[in-house]
Amino acid sequence: MTAEFQNFRAPRGQVLFREQDEGDCAYAIVAGQVEITVERNGKQVSVATLGPGEIFGEMAIISSSKRTATATVIDDCVLHRIEARQFNQRIEKMDPVMRMVIDVILSRFRTTLQRIEAGPPAFREIALAPMPYVSQAMEHLRLENEIASAVREQQFVPFYQPIICLKTGKLAGFEALLRWHHPVHGVLSPDRFIPAAEQTDLISQLTASCLLAASNDLRELRMACLNNIEHVTPAFVSVNITGRDLERTEFVYEIEAMFSADGLSPDMLKLEITESSLMTNLDKIREDLSRLRALGIQIAIDDFGTGYSSMSHLAKLPVSTLKIDRSFITDITENLPNRKIVKTIVRLARELGLPIIAEGVSSPADAAWLAGNKCEFAQGFYYSQPVPLSQALAMIRSWDPAQQELAVGNNPDGLDLTANRNVA
Ligand code: C2E
Ligand code: CA
Ligand code: CA
Repeated sequence: MTAEFQNFRAPRGQVLFREQDEGDCAYAIVAGQVEITVERNGKQVSVATLGPGEIFGEMAIISSSKRTATATVIDDCVLHRIEARQFNQRIEKMDPVMRMVIDVILSRFRTTLQRIEAGPPAFREIALAPMPYVSQAMEHLRLENEIASAVREQQFVPFYQPIICLKTGKLAGFEALLRWHHPVHGVLSPDRFIPAAEQTDLISQLTASCLLAASNDLRELRMACLNNIEHVTPAFVSVNITGRDLERTEFVYEIEAMFSADGLSPDMLKLEITESSLMTNLDKIREDLSRLRALGIQIAIDDFGTGYSSMSHLAKLPVSTLKIDRSFITDITENLPNRKIVKTIVRLARELGLPIIAEGVSSPADAAWLAGNKCEFAQGFYYSQPVPLSQALAMIRSWDPAQQELAVGNNPDGLDLTANRNVA
Protein backbone atom coordinates (compact mmCIF):
# COMPACT_ATOMS: atom_id res chain seq x y z
CA MET A 1 0.00 0.00 0.00
CA THR A 2 1.47 3.41 -0.93
CA ALA A 3 1.58 6.31 1.54
CA GLU A 4 -1.21 8.22 -0.19
CA PHE A 5 -3.72 5.50 0.66
CA GLN A 6 -2.79 5.34 4.34
CA ASN A 7 -4.81 6.84 7.13
CA PHE A 8 -3.25 9.55 9.30
CA ARG A 9 -4.00 11.03 12.69
CA ALA A 10 -4.96 14.66 13.26
CA PRO A 11 -5.16 16.00 16.84
CA ARG A 12 -7.95 18.22 18.17
CA GLY A 13 -7.37 21.83 17.12
CA GLN A 14 -5.55 21.05 13.83
CA VAL A 15 -6.77 23.14 10.91
CA LEU A 16 -6.87 20.89 7.84
CA PHE A 17 -7.53 23.71 5.37
CA ARG A 18 -8.75 27.28 5.39
CA GLU A 19 -11.24 29.23 3.32
CA GLN A 20 -9.58 30.49 0.10
CA ASP A 21 -6.79 27.84 0.22
CA GLU A 22 -6.11 26.00 -3.03
CA GLY A 23 -7.84 22.59 -2.88
CA ASP A 24 -5.55 19.66 -3.65
CA CYS A 25 -7.26 16.83 -1.77
CA ALA A 26 -10.40 15.72 0.06
CA TYR A 27 -10.67 13.79 3.32
CA ALA A 28 -12.76 10.91 4.61
CA ILE A 29 -13.27 10.68 8.37
CA VAL A 30 -12.44 7.24 9.77
CA ALA A 31 -12.76 8.31 13.44
CA GLY A 32 -13.21 11.62 15.33
CA GLN A 33 -15.00 14.85 14.38
CA VAL A 34 -14.33 17.82 12.13
CA GLU A 35 -16.07 21.20 12.21
CA ILE A 36 -16.67 23.13 9.00
CA THR A 37 -16.83 26.90 9.44
CA VAL A 38 -17.16 29.96 7.22
CA GLU A 39 -16.01 33.47 7.97
CA ARG A 40 -18.80 36.03 8.46
CA ASN A 41 -18.09 39.59 9.57
CA GLY A 42 -14.67 38.58 10.88
CA LYS A 43 -16.01 35.62 12.88
CA GLN A 44 -15.96 31.87 12.18
CA VAL A 45 -19.53 30.57 11.91
CA SER A 46 -20.08 26.81 12.19
CA VAL A 47 -21.97 25.29 9.24
CA ALA A 48 -21.50 21.56 9.93
CA THR A 49 -20.00 19.02 12.30
CA LEU A 50 -18.90 15.86 10.52
CA GLY A 51 -18.13 12.40 11.87
CA PRO A 52 -16.99 8.93 10.77
CA GLY A 53 -17.95 7.92 7.23
CA GLU A 54 -18.32 11.50 6.00
CA ILE A 55 -16.24 13.20 3.30
CA PHE A 56 -15.25 16.84 3.12
CA GLY A 57 -13.08 19.06 0.93
CA GLU A 58 -14.30 17.37 -2.26
CA MET A 59 -16.05 20.41 -3.78
CA ALA A 60 -12.86 22.40 -4.36
CA ILE A 61 -11.19 19.56 -6.23
CA ILE A 62 -14.20 18.52 -8.30
CA SER A 63 -14.79 22.08 -9.49
CA SER A 64 -11.07 23.13 -9.42
CA SER A 65 -11.82 26.13 -7.24
CA LYS A 66 -10.63 27.53 -3.90
CA ARG A 67 -11.84 26.22 -0.54
CA THR A 68 -15.12 27.84 0.47
CA ALA A 69 -14.85 26.88 4.16
CA THR A 70 -12.36 26.06 6.91
CA ALA A 71 -12.06 22.53 8.35
CA THR A 72 -10.85 22.10 11.93
CA VAL A 73 -10.47 18.91 13.96
CA ILE A 74 -12.63 19.17 17.11
CA ASP A 75 -12.21 15.60 18.34
CA ASP A 76 -8.96 13.65 17.65
CA CYS A 77 -9.32 12.23 14.17
CA VAL A 78 -8.15 9.38 11.99
CA LEU A 79 -8.48 10.66 8.43
CA HIS A 80 -8.08 9.22 4.98
CA ARG A 81 -6.61 11.61 2.42
CA ILE A 82 -8.08 11.41 -1.10
CA GLU A 83 -5.84 13.02 -3.72
CA ALA A 84 -7.32 15.24 -6.44
CA ARG A 85 -5.77 12.84 -8.95
CA GLN A 86 -7.81 9.95 -7.52
CA PHE A 87 -11.02 11.92 -8.06
CA ASN A 88 -10.07 13.35 -11.42
CA GLN A 89 -9.16 9.99 -12.96
CA ARG A 90 -12.60 8.69 -12.04
CA ILE A 91 -14.38 11.81 -13.22
CA GLU A 92 -12.64 11.58 -16.60
CA LYS A 93 -13.95 8.03 -17.06
CA MET A 94 -17.46 8.97 -15.99
CA ASP A 95 -20.53 8.99 -18.18
CA PRO A 96 -20.82 12.64 -19.42
CA VAL A 97 -24.44 12.77 -18.28
CA MET A 98 -23.46 11.94 -14.70
CA ARG A 99 -20.67 14.52 -14.95
CA MET A 100 -23.26 17.08 -15.93
CA VAL A 101 -25.47 16.08 -12.98
CA ILE A 102 -22.54 16.61 -10.56
CA ASP A 103 -21.80 19.93 -12.27
CA VAL A 104 -25.39 21.10 -11.94
CA ILE A 105 -25.62 20.12 -8.26
CA LEU A 106 -22.33 21.87 -7.43
CA SER A 107 -23.22 24.94 -9.43
CA ARG A 108 -26.65 25.25 -7.78
CA PHE A 109 -25.14 24.72 -4.34
CA ARG A 110 -22.47 27.40 -4.80
CA THR A 111 -24.93 29.87 -6.32
CA THR A 112 -27.42 29.26 -3.51
CA LEU A 113 -24.70 29.96 -0.92
CA GLN A 114 -23.76 33.20 -2.68
CA ARG A 115 -27.40 34.26 -2.93
CA ILE A 116 -28.03 33.60 0.75
CA GLU A 117 -24.95 35.62 1.58
CA ALA A 118 -25.94 38.51 -0.69
CA GLY A 119 -29.49 38.58 0.66
CA PRO A 120 -32.46 40.12 -1.15
CA PRO A 121 -32.71 41.89 -3.53
CA ALA A 122 -29.05 41.41 -4.66
CA PHE A 123 -29.42 37.60 -4.81
CA ARG A 124 -31.44 37.90 -8.01
CA GLU A 125 -28.39 39.27 -9.83
CA ILE A 126 -26.19 36.27 -9.11
CA ALA A 127 -26.19 33.98 -12.13
CA LEU A 128 -25.77 30.21 -11.99
CA ALA A 129 -22.05 29.33 -11.99
CA PRO A 130 -20.76 27.98 -15.34
CA MET A 131 -21.22 24.24 -16.01
CA PRO A 132 -18.49 23.04 -18.41
CA TYR A 133 -19.85 19.55 -19.09
CA VAL A 134 -23.39 20.49 -20.06
CA SER A 135 -22.95 20.71 -23.83
CA GLN A 136 -21.06 17.40 -23.98
CA ALA A 137 -23.78 15.72 -21.90
CA MET A 138 -26.55 17.19 -24.07
CA GLU A 139 -24.83 15.80 -27.16
CA HIS A 140 -24.63 12.41 -25.45
CA LEU A 141 -28.33 12.41 -24.55
CA ARG A 142 -29.25 13.48 -28.08
CA LEU A 143 -27.19 10.60 -29.50
CA GLU A 144 -28.76 8.09 -27.09
CA ASN A 145 -32.24 9.16 -28.18
CA GLU A 146 -31.24 8.96 -31.82
CA ILE A 147 -29.79 5.44 -31.33
CA ALA A 148 -32.98 4.32 -29.56
CA SER A 149 -35.18 5.43 -32.45
CA ALA A 150 -32.71 4.02 -35.00
CA VAL A 151 -33.01 0.61 -33.27
CA ARG A 152 -36.81 0.83 -33.62
CA GLU A 153 -36.44 1.75 -37.28
CA GLN A 154 -34.00 -1.13 -37.89
CA GLN A 155 -31.21 1.13 -39.12
CA PHE A 156 -28.53 -1.11 -37.57
CA VAL A 157 -27.39 -3.84 -39.92
CA PRO A 158 -24.43 -6.22 -39.58
CA PHE A 159 -21.58 -6.24 -42.07
CA TYR A 160 -19.55 -9.43 -42.27
CA GLN A 161 -15.78 -9.86 -42.13
CA PRO A 162 -14.39 -13.27 -43.14
CA ILE A 163 -12.30 -15.48 -40.87
CA ILE A 164 -9.89 -17.78 -42.69
CA CYS A 165 -8.33 -21.12 -41.71
CA LEU A 166 -4.59 -20.51 -42.14
CA LYS A 167 -3.74 -24.16 -42.68
CA THR A 168 -6.14 -24.76 -45.57
CA GLY A 169 -6.87 -21.21 -46.81
CA LYS A 170 -10.58 -22.09 -46.55
CA LEU A 171 -13.10 -19.54 -45.44
CA ALA A 172 -14.22 -20.65 -41.98
CA GLY A 173 -16.67 -18.06 -40.70
CA PHE A 174 -17.60 -14.39 -40.36
CA GLU A 175 -17.66 -11.79 -37.65
CA ALA A 176 -20.86 -9.71 -37.68
CA LEU A 177 -19.96 -6.04 -37.16
CA LEU A 178 -22.79 -3.55 -36.86
CA ARG A 179 -23.13 -0.55 -39.15
CA TRP A 180 -25.64 2.27 -38.70
CA HIS A 181 -27.41 3.14 -41.92
CA HIS A 182 -27.99 6.72 -40.88
CA PRO A 183 -30.60 8.56 -42.98
CA VAL A 184 -28.46 11.75 -43.10
CA HIS A 185 -24.84 10.71 -42.48
CA GLY A 186 -24.77 7.43 -44.44
CA VAL A 187 -23.08 4.28 -43.15
CA LEU A 188 -21.56 4.89 -39.70
CA SER A 189 -18.94 2.69 -37.98
CA PRO A 190 -19.39 1.31 -34.46
CA ASP A 191 -17.07 3.90 -32.91
CA ARG A 192 -19.82 6.46 -33.61
CA PHE A 193 -22.47 4.63 -31.56
CA ILE A 194 -21.15 1.67 -29.50
CA PRO A 195 -19.40 3.77 -26.80
CA ALA A 196 -22.60 5.82 -26.20
CA ALA A 197 -24.80 2.70 -26.27
CA GLU A 198 -22.52 0.97 -23.76
CA GLN A 199 -23.32 3.63 -21.16
CA THR A 200 -26.93 2.39 -20.97
CA ASP A 201 -28.95 -0.71 -21.78
CA LEU A 202 -29.13 0.47 -25.41
CA ILE A 203 -26.16 -1.83 -25.97
CA SER A 204 -28.43 -4.81 -25.20
CA GLN A 205 -30.88 -3.62 -27.86
CA LEU A 206 -28.01 -3.42 -30.35
CA THR A 207 -26.83 -6.90 -29.38
CA ALA A 208 -30.38 -8.19 -29.85
CA SER A 209 -30.67 -6.61 -33.31
CA CYS A 210 -27.28 -7.98 -34.35
CA LEU A 211 -28.16 -11.48 -33.07
CA LEU A 212 -31.50 -11.43 -34.84
CA ALA A 213 -30.06 -10.23 -38.15
CA ALA A 214 -27.09 -12.62 -37.93
CA SER A 215 -29.34 -15.61 -37.21
CA ASN A 216 -31.49 -14.68 -40.22
CA ASP A 217 -28.44 -14.20 -42.44
CA LEU A 218 -26.80 -17.40 -41.18
CA ARG A 219 -29.24 -19.51 -43.15
CA GLU A 220 -28.24 -17.83 -46.43
CA LEU A 221 -24.55 -17.88 -45.56
CA ARG A 222 -24.73 -21.63 -44.85
CA MET A 223 -26.56 -22.30 -48.11
CA ALA A 224 -23.89 -20.41 -50.04
CA CYS A 225 -21.18 -22.43 -48.25
CA LEU A 226 -22.78 -25.68 -49.32
CA ASN A 227 -22.43 -24.56 -52.94
CA ASN A 228 -18.66 -24.12 -52.58
CA ILE A 229 -18.00 -26.79 -49.99
CA GLU A 230 -14.58 -27.63 -51.46
CA HIS A 231 -13.21 -24.19 -50.52
CA VAL A 232 -15.38 -23.12 -47.64
CA THR A 233 -16.10 -24.91 -44.37
CA PRO A 234 -19.74 -24.49 -43.26
CA ALA A 235 -19.50 -21.01 -41.81
CA PHE A 236 -20.07 -19.85 -38.26
CA VAL A 237 -21.03 -16.30 -37.38
CA SER A 238 -19.49 -14.43 -34.47
CA VAL A 239 -21.52 -11.77 -32.68
CA ASN A 240 -20.03 -9.31 -30.19
CA ILE A 241 -21.62 -9.17 -26.75
CA THR A 242 -20.75 -7.13 -23.66
CA GLY A 243 -20.72 -7.66 -19.90
CA ARG A 244 -24.00 -5.74 -19.77
CA ASP A 245 -25.70 -8.41 -21.93
CA LEU A 246 -24.63 -11.15 -19.55
CA GLU A 247 -25.90 -9.11 -16.60
CA ARG A 248 -29.46 -9.46 -17.96
CA THR A 249 -30.90 -12.68 -16.56
CA GLU A 250 -33.08 -13.21 -19.66
CA PHE A 251 -30.11 -13.06 -22.08
CA VAL A 252 -29.27 -16.77 -22.04
CA TYR A 253 -32.99 -17.71 -22.33
CA GLU A 254 -33.44 -15.37 -25.30
CA ILE A 255 -30.58 -17.03 -27.15
CA GLU A 256 -31.93 -20.45 -26.25
CA ALA A 257 -35.39 -19.49 -27.57
CA MET A 258 -33.92 -18.05 -30.76
CA PHE A 259 -32.22 -21.32 -31.58
CA SER A 260 -35.06 -23.65 -30.66
CA ALA A 261 -37.50 -21.56 -32.75
CA ASP A 262 -35.23 -21.26 -35.75
CA GLY A 263 -33.94 -24.77 -36.06
CA LEU A 264 -30.44 -23.32 -36.30
CA SER A 265 -27.64 -25.36 -34.83
CA PRO A 266 -26.17 -23.44 -31.88
CA ASP A 267 -22.61 -24.37 -32.82
CA MET A 268 -22.99 -22.04 -35.82
CA LEU A 269 -22.98 -19.11 -33.40
CA LYS A 270 -19.93 -17.77 -31.64
CA LEU A 271 -20.25 -15.02 -29.06
CA GLU A 272 -17.27 -12.70 -28.65
CA ILE A 273 -16.77 -11.02 -25.32
CA THR A 274 -13.81 -8.78 -24.61
CA GLU A 275 -11.18 -9.85 -22.15
CA SER A 276 -11.75 -6.65 -20.15
CA SER A 277 -15.50 -7.41 -19.63
CA LEU A 278 -14.55 -10.74 -18.07
CA MET A 279 -12.56 -9.20 -15.26
CA THR A 280 -15.36 -8.49 -12.80
CA ASN A 281 -17.84 -10.82 -11.14
CA LEU A 282 -16.03 -13.96 -12.25
CA ASP A 283 -18.42 -16.46 -10.65
CA LYS A 284 -21.52 -14.99 -12.30
CA ILE A 285 -19.81 -14.69 -15.70
CA ARG A 286 -18.56 -18.27 -15.49
CA GLU A 287 -22.07 -19.48 -14.69
CA ASP A 288 -23.63 -17.55 -17.61
CA LEU A 289 -20.96 -18.61 -20.08
CA SER A 290 -21.29 -22.23 -18.93
CA ARG A 291 -25.02 -22.14 -19.68
CA LEU A 292 -24.33 -20.76 -23.15
CA ARG A 293 -21.65 -23.41 -23.72
CA ALA A 294 -24.11 -26.08 -22.55
CA LEU A 295 -26.42 -24.95 -25.37
CA GLY A 296 -23.55 -25.65 -27.77
CA ILE A 297 -22.73 -21.98 -28.41
CA GLN A 298 -19.05 -21.17 -28.77
CA ILE A 299 -17.46 -18.40 -26.75
CA ALA A 300 -14.47 -16.39 -27.93
CA ILE A 301 -12.41 -14.03 -25.79
CA ASP A 302 -12.05 -10.87 -27.89
CA ASP A 303 -9.12 -8.42 -27.91
CA PHE A 304 -7.08 -10.98 -26.01
CA GLY A 305 -3.82 -9.57 -24.63
CA THR A 306 -5.23 -6.13 -23.83
CA GLY A 307 -7.16 -6.89 -20.64
CA TYR A 308 -4.48 -8.19 -18.23
CA SER A 309 -6.65 -11.14 -17.15
CA SER A 310 -4.81 -13.60 -14.97
CA MET A 311 -4.10 -17.06 -16.28
CA SER A 312 -5.98 -18.71 -13.41
CA HIS A 313 -8.98 -16.51 -14.24
CA LEU A 314 -8.84 -17.51 -17.89
CA ALA A 315 -8.43 -21.21 -17.22
CA LYS A 316 -11.68 -21.24 -15.22
CA LEU A 317 -13.81 -19.83 -18.04
CA PRO A 318 -15.63 -22.15 -20.45
CA VAL A 319 -14.26 -20.47 -23.58
CA SER A 320 -13.69 -22.08 -26.96
CA THR A 321 -11.48 -19.57 -28.83
CA LEU A 322 -8.98 -16.76 -28.18
CA LYS A 323 -8.90 -13.77 -30.52
CA ILE A 324 -5.54 -11.99 -30.35
CA ASP A 325 -6.00 -8.23 -30.48
CA ARG A 326 -4.97 -6.58 -33.72
CA SER A 327 -2.51 -4.26 -31.94
CA PHE A 328 -0.18 -7.28 -31.63
CA ILE A 329 -0.68 -8.51 -35.19
CA THR A 330 -0.47 -5.60 -37.61
CA ASP A 331 3.16 -5.42 -38.86
CA ILE A 332 4.07 -8.44 -36.80
CA THR A 333 6.99 -9.23 -39.07
CA GLU A 334 8.60 -5.88 -38.14
CA ASN A 335 7.90 -5.96 -34.43
CA LEU A 336 9.99 -8.31 -32.28
CA PRO A 337 8.24 -7.68 -28.91
CA ASN A 338 4.85 -8.39 -30.52
CA ARG A 339 6.19 -11.58 -32.09
CA LYS A 340 7.28 -12.74 -28.62
CA ILE A 341 3.86 -11.88 -27.16
CA VAL A 342 2.01 -13.71 -29.93
CA LYS A 343 4.23 -16.79 -29.61
CA THR A 344 3.52 -16.83 -25.87
CA ILE A 345 -0.23 -16.52 -26.42
CA VAL A 346 -0.13 -19.33 -28.99
CA ARG A 347 1.71 -21.57 -26.50
CA LEU A 348 -0.80 -20.69 -23.78
CA ALA A 349 -3.76 -21.40 -26.08
CA ARG A 350 -2.23 -24.72 -27.02
CA GLU A 351 -1.90 -25.66 -23.34
CA LEU A 352 -5.56 -24.76 -22.82
CA GLY A 353 -6.62 -26.55 -26.01
CA LEU A 354 -8.05 -23.36 -27.54
CA PRO A 355 -7.78 -22.36 -31.20
CA ILE A 356 -6.59 -18.82 -31.96
CA ILE A 357 -7.96 -16.21 -34.34
CA ALA A 358 -5.45 -13.44 -35.13
CA GLU A 359 -7.19 -10.13 -35.81
CA GLY A 360 -5.87 -7.28 -37.95
CA VAL A 361 -4.00 -9.43 -40.49
CA SER A 362 -3.17 -6.85 -43.14
CA SER A 363 -0.46 -8.37 -45.34
CA PRO A 364 0.57 -11.73 -46.80
CA ALA A 365 3.67 -11.52 -44.62
CA ASP A 366 1.48 -11.28 -41.48
CA ALA A 367 -0.55 -14.28 -42.64
CA ALA A 368 2.57 -16.34 -43.51
CA TRP A 369 4.22 -15.60 -40.15
CA LEU A 370 1.05 -16.55 -38.25
CA ALA A 371 0.59 -19.75 -40.25
CA GLY A 372 4.25 -20.64 -39.60
CA ASN A 373 3.71 -20.08 -35.89
CA LYS A 374 0.76 -22.42 -35.65
CA CYS A 375 -1.97 -19.84 -35.39
CA GLU A 376 -5.18 -21.50 -36.66
CA PHE A 377 -7.32 -18.64 -37.99
CA ALA A 378 -6.87 -15.12 -39.36
CA GLN A 379 -9.09 -12.10 -39.89
CA GLY A 380 -8.15 -8.74 -41.34
CA PHE A 381 -8.08 -6.27 -44.20
CA TYR A 382 -5.65 -8.51 -46.11
CA TYR A 383 -8.59 -10.80 -46.76
CA SER A 384 -11.43 -8.30 -46.69
CA GLN A 385 -12.95 -5.41 -44.79
CA PRO A 386 -16.37 -6.09 -43.24
CA VAL A 387 -18.86 -6.15 -46.15
CA PRO A 388 -22.66 -6.22 -46.53
CA LEU A 389 -24.42 -9.60 -46.65
CA SER A 390 -24.69 -9.60 -50.46
CA GLN A 391 -20.92 -9.23 -50.81
CA ALA A 392 -20.27 -11.83 -48.11
CA LEU A 393 -22.43 -14.27 -50.11
CA ALA A 394 -20.54 -13.44 -53.31
CA MET A 395 -17.27 -13.95 -51.44
CA ILE A 396 -18.35 -17.41 -50.27
CA ARG A 397 -19.45 -18.45 -53.76
CA SER A 398 -16.16 -17.52 -55.38
CA TRP A 399 -13.74 -18.24 -52.51
CA ASP A 400 -10.65 -20.07 -53.71
CA PRO A 401 -7.73 -20.62 -51.32
CA ALA A 402 -5.35 -20.99 -54.27
CA GLN A 403 -5.94 -17.37 -55.27
CA GLN A 404 -5.18 -15.73 -51.97
CA GLU A 405 -1.77 -14.40 -53.03
CA LEU A 406 -3.46 -12.40 -55.83
CA ALA A 407 -5.40 -10.36 -53.30
CA VAL A 408 -2.31 -8.38 -52.37
CA GLY A 409 -1.63 -7.07 -55.84
CA ASN A 410 -5.24 -6.00 -56.26
CA ASN A 411 -5.49 -4.40 -52.87
CA PRO A 412 -2.14 -2.93 -51.82
CA ASP A 413 -3.48 -0.63 -49.10
CA GLY A 414 -6.28 -2.92 -47.98
CA LEU A 415 -8.80 -0.10 -47.78
CA ASP A 416 -11.32 -0.83 -50.51
CA LEU A 417 -14.70 -2.07 -49.20
CA THR A 418 -14.78 -4.71 -51.93
CA ALA A 419 -11.21 -5.65 -51.10
CA ASN A 420 -11.52 -9.40 -51.56
CA ARG A 421 -10.52 -10.27 -55.11
CA ASN A 422 -13.28 -12.83 -55.28
CA VAL A 423 -15.94 -10.17 -55.00
CA ALA A 424 -17.16 -8.91 -58.31
P1 C2E B 1 -13.80 -5.83 -32.70
O1 C2E B 1 -14.80 -6.78 -32.15
O2 C2E B 1 -12.39 -5.97 -32.25
O3 C2E B 1 -13.93 -5.96 -34.28
C1 C2E B 1 -12.88 -5.89 -35.17
C2 C2E B 1 -12.68 -4.50 -35.66
O4 C2E B 1 -11.40 -4.44 -36.27
C3 C2E B 1 -13.68 -4.12 -36.75
O5 C2E B 1 -13.89 -2.72 -36.69
C4 C2E B 1 -12.92 -4.42 -38.03
O6 C2E B 1 -13.33 -3.69 -39.13
C5 C2E B 1 -11.53 -4.01 -37.60
N1 C2E B 1 -10.51 -4.68 -38.39
C6 C2E B 1 -10.54 -5.94 -38.86
N2 C2E B 1 -9.42 -6.22 -39.54
C7 C2E B 1 -8.67 -5.10 -39.49
C8 C2E B 1 -7.37 -4.77 -40.01
O7 C2E B 1 -6.70 -5.56 -40.68
N3 C2E B 1 -6.90 -3.53 -39.76
C9 C2E B 1 -7.62 -2.64 -39.02
N4 C2E B 1 -7.10 -1.42 -38.81
N5 C2E B 1 -8.84 -2.91 -38.52
C10 C2E B 1 -9.34 -4.14 -38.75
P2 C2E B 1 -15.35 -2.16 -36.61
O8 C2E B 1 -16.25 -2.89 -37.51
O9 C2E B 1 -15.19 -0.68 -36.78
O10 C2E B 1 -15.77 -2.49 -35.13
C11 C2E B 1 -15.14 -1.87 -34.06
C12 C2E B 1 -15.62 -2.44 -32.74
O11 C2E B 1 -17.00 -2.13 -32.54
C13 C2E B 1 -15.56 -3.95 -32.69
O12 C2E B 1 -14.24 -4.32 -32.42
C14 C2E B 1 -16.52 -4.23 -31.56
O13 C2E B 1 -15.86 -4.03 -30.30
C15 C2E B 1 -17.55 -3.13 -31.71
N6 C2E B 1 -18.75 -3.70 -32.34
C16 C2E B 1 -19.07 -3.84 -33.64
N7 C2E B 1 -20.29 -4.41 -33.77
C17 C2E B 1 -20.74 -4.67 -32.51
C18 C2E B 1 -21.92 -5.26 -31.97
O14 C2E B 1 -22.82 -5.73 -32.65
N8 C2E B 1 -22.02 -5.32 -30.60
C19 C2E B 1 -21.03 -4.86 -29.79
N9 C2E B 1 -21.18 -4.98 -28.47
N10 C2E B 1 -19.89 -4.32 -30.26
C20 C2E B 1 -19.75 -4.21 -31.61
CA1 CA C 1 -15.07 -8.81 -31.93
CA1 CA D 1 -11.35 -7.69 -31.45
